[in-house]
Amino acid sequence: MNEHYKFFNHPLPYAYNAMEPFIDEKTMWLHHNRHLQTYIDNLNNILSKYPQFQNWTLETLLLNVPSLPEVIQIPVKNNGGGIFNHQFYFSNLLNPAPTQPIGMLKDAIFLQYGNYQGFKDQFKKAALAVFGSGYAWLVVDAAGQLKIIITANQDTPLPLGLCPVLNIDVWEHAYYLKHYNLRTDYINDWFHVINWDNANNNYIKCFY
Ligand code: MN
Repeated sequence: MNEHYKFFNHPLPYAYNAMEPFIDEKTMWLHHNRHLQTYIDNLNNILSKYPQFQNWTLETLLLNVPSLPEVIQIPVKNNGGGIFNHQFYFSNLLNPAPTQPIGMLKDAIFLQYGNYQGFKDQFKKAALAVFGSGYAWLVVDAAGQLKIIITANQDTPLPLGLCPVLNIDVWEHAYYLKHYNLRTDYINDWFHVINWDNANNNYIKCFY
């Protein structure tokens, strides 16, 4: 995440078919190789005309959108957010995955939501409540508490001062080929492929 212009679409740390049968190979390929690639190409094109921002990391860009020239504020927010959100989403997938949270994150989830099922119920409700395109997130707030939030389009939790732990992409392109319009089926399948080890690392990093 310390990268800056020129951004590069790193290969996934697993094969495109690795999330079968929960997330299908063609969706994974299109999602990574077309959707994420487009956000990367767009941000590189924008920044190619603004050398003064070419050494800014993705997070620096997203945290400082208001100090960018007005004409590139929305494009940087949308395309930079598209990169951040997708890299975060892909990094939190694993198959086979642990069947429940692990480590300090597990303790925090059980404290906040009673048990894993309590967390799943609330997270699923949030993911279903995204109207149109966006994400549901598990984040740590400024008080160090776990919180479930939703963001629209390619907005990120970063400008809200929230530290991301886990996200689910509920844009239709994330599930339409396999699950059609049934977002709830996709969410149920996604629960099988959460990289809880990575999420736990994200959680711990929120406190440094
Ligand atoms: Mn997506």
